[in-house]
Amino acid sequence: MPSRLMLRYLGADLSSSTGRALIEERYRSLRQQVPIIYLLGLVNLSAMELAATGRLVPGANLPTLILGCGLIRLCQWFGHGRDVVHGTMVARMAQTVLFATLVCVAVCVRCLYLLQVGDSASHMAVMLFGGLTAIGVAYGLTALPPAGRIPLLLIIGPLSVAALLSKEPQFAGAAFGLVVVGALTMRLLTAHNRHFTDVIKSRAIIAREQRRVANAHEEALIAATTDFLTGLPNRRAFVSALEAAASDSPGTFSLAIIDLNRFKAVNDTFGHAAGDELLQEVAARLVAAIGDRGLVARLGGDEFGVLIEDVHRLKDVAAAGAAIISGVNGSAMIRGRELGISVSCGLRMSDKSQDQSPSRLMADADLALYQAKVNPGGGATIFEPRMEGPRRRRAQVERALRAPDLSEHLSLVFQPIVDLGTGRILAHEALARWTDPELGPVPPSEFVPLAEQLNLIDEISPRLMDMAFEAAKEWPEEVRLSFNLSAIQICSPGSAKSVLRALRAARLSPSRLQVEVTETALLADFTQARDNLTQLRAAGATIVLDDFGAGFASIGYLRQLHFDQIKLDGGLVTAAHGSADGKRLLRAVIGLCEILGVSSVAEHVENQEILTLVLELGCAAGQGFWLQEPLGRLEVRNLHEALAGGRSRSTDRRAA
Ligand code: C2E
Ligand code: CA
Ligand code: CA
Repeated sequence: MPSRLMLRYLGADLSSSTGRALIEERYRSLRQQVPIIYLLGLVNLSAMELAATGRLVPGANLPTLILGCGLIRLCQWFGHGRDVVHGTMVARMAQTVLFATLVCVAVCVRCLYLLQVGDSASHMAVMLFGGLTAIGVAYGLTALPPAGRIPLLLIIGPLSVAALLSKEPQFAGAAFGLVVVGALTMRLLTAHNRHFTDVIKSRAIIAREQRRVANAHEEALIAATTDFLTGLPNRRAFVSALEAAASDSPGTFSLAIIDLNRFKAVNDTFGHAAGDELLQEVAARLVAAIGDRGLVARLGGDEFGVLIEDVHRLKDVAAAGAAIISGVNGSAMIRGRELGISVSCGLRMSDKSQDQSPSRLMADADLALYQAKVNPGGGATIFEPRMEGPRRRRAQVERALRAPDLSEHLSLVFQPIVDLGTGRILAHEALARWTDPELGPVPPSEFVPLAEQLNLIDEISPRLMDMAFEAAKEWPEEVRLSFNLSAIQICSPGSAKSVLRALRAARLSPSRLQVEVTETALLADFTQARDNLTQLRAAGATIVLDDFGAGFASIGYLRQLHFDQIKLDGGLVTAAHGSADGKRLLRAVIGLCEILGVSSVAEHVENQEILTLVLELGCAAGQGFWLQEPLGRLEVRNLHEALAGGRSRSTDRRAA
């Protein structure tokens, strides 16, 4: 009840942070002042006793009372430590008002009594010390205005009235002075309280604002470093953790990069929602497998990263890798379907003596992951320096591809595509050759995909195309030039137009051109590829699907795009040689081409058996080392001159 009254009097509201801050600040300030107030009272009132009565004997007198109250209050304020709840604070303030009233009444009574006895000098001493005590105590209680006003009202008030009533002029003057000082002190108390309240309120507002900014900052930080789908740390957080590990405990941690096998198939077959659930399941399994040994993060797509702490030996790293694989692999119920989960894992041990930048460590773990993917049943593979070979080679080839004089080292060879029925050469396929002065010959299967990745194919291909067009002009009219178009070329807008422009510039009819495109190249942007191919076909060029049977061999594309020829992938052809299953498959694919009304070309006709086989299966045309190895420009010209005069080696062979 007194606490509630006190709260109402102070205008404080414990449900608001400002209200609580006000109470805390008043309490803290009061707690500091209480010992001083009692000391001040004790000294002043002892002096008053001494001055008014001429003696100070221990016993039941005012200073003893003050001392007793002071001790009780000190025990109350300091006996329970600092951590008190707001309710207790308010209760203690209410007690302060009570004690102030009791003590002031006692002082007042004693002063009034002393004014009745003694001489005028002692009366003046009572006025002086009584007034000083009241003002001092009031000032000490500024943090609690209701208590601060009590000594002014209960000591100065009655003392002044008594002095005025005494009709002694010097007392009346002193009383007047006291009343004025008391009134001014009261006014100061009010002003101080207002100021005090304002300061605390604004401090509370600033603190609240700071908290809000800190919270917002923390939220933004969490959002920027968390993967939305799995709730795991994201790539950014993972990289920071790697940086921290490399600087705090170099050489004592490892990292793993984990990739789901065949995730794309799950996404494509069962939809993205199932894919998302699968990723969440993998995330949970990884966290369970690693426990508190490290940090699991989602690096993006179906790739996860694990930072494993406190591993020093290779066998511990291998054990961590095995734990990851066995913890994640298995089956899971996703949207009512049982799906198999299988992951590959590349591990990299940190090494104090080497570059420990996150990018380097992650690139190494990636290489190990790649190895794990290539080796059937690779599971978890630890990085070894020998794996760097391909990376170093790639960097060398990349540097050489960017050399300004690259085109001087590029050339073409031509391999005939032969009609297996008549032995006639239908076309020559242009095959790029590059002999770098330092690296020596670099096969196209190596540099073409890299040039595509580096966006350099647009510089290389037109140069090759011009060379091929110049060569094709030397061949008989009915022999076409077959040119391979890469994914970037076939899928970039305007590429058909630039090919047709180059043909015009070379004064070569579009009907002399045959373009070879692979299914994977079409996949990059099917609509754009279809636009380009349609334009080329409309201009008279022949469109060939290359490497059919090497990728997905989707019948959908065969229906949506009209091909003039389908080249059966070399792997499909050679597999048919000596394998009954392979033979059945090749027969079926050739049959499919027949049904579609598109002629088929067998690649990699490497020996007589394959030639006999593809002839028997009804293949219209063939290409391969057995028929003719790729030839230089001059050799092709000579071949045609010889053919015009006689018969070619390849047709001789076929006849045999
Ligand atoms: P591709 O288009 O399938 O070219 C046929 C590849 O098979 C050529 O290899 C050729 O030399 C090889 N080959 C021919 N007959 C036989 C045989 O009987 N047995 C075996 N095992 N192989 C045979 P090459 O010249 O190394 O070209 C490899 C790939 O590089 C090509 O495959 C093609 O995808 C790409 N490529 C080559 N030149 C170019 C080009 O100018 N532009 C683009 N975009 N790609 C090119
Ligand atoms: Ca080709
Ligand atoms: Ca091919």
